Amino acid sequence: MQDCIFCEIANRRIETEILFEDDDIIAFSDINPIAPVHVLFIPKKHIESVSDISKEDKMLMGNMIFQAKEMAVRLGIDKNGYKLLFRTGQDGGQEIPHIHLHLIGGAKLYEEIRPV
Ligand code: AMP
Ligand code: ZN
Repeated sequence: MQDCIFCEIANRRIETEILFEDDDIIAFSDINPIAPVHVLFIPKKHIESVSDISKEDKMLMGNMIFQAKEMAVRLGIDKNGYKLLFRTGQDGGQEIPHIHLHLIGGAKLYEEIRPV
């Protein structure tokens, strides 16, 4: 999709260090990390948000979660735990309209989820 920064990263038009890649997804570090580990997993194909997942995407989304878990093991944060986060739409605080799964960990995480 034109003018989508995560499509640009997936298509290698923007240079980013890729931490994981398979046929359908890639992972890279968040540019503005909020914890020692902050990795984003995105599908190579443009899907705007969780609200736009179709039946055909079910395996893809399972793969994203599975690969995030594998990355947590590789980075040694699985024993202490971590967060997996999909922000969705305006109220969910989603800023980039290309679905992405945040893997956040490496420290005890402060929890604040409340209405603005
Ligand atoms: P969200 O608020 O869930 O849409 O998260 C978007 C995330 O993308 C934020 O954590 C940003 O720091 C991150 N981000 C934005 N642009 C880039 C980029 N070029 N490379 C890596 N991460 C980015
Ligand atoms: Zn996109």
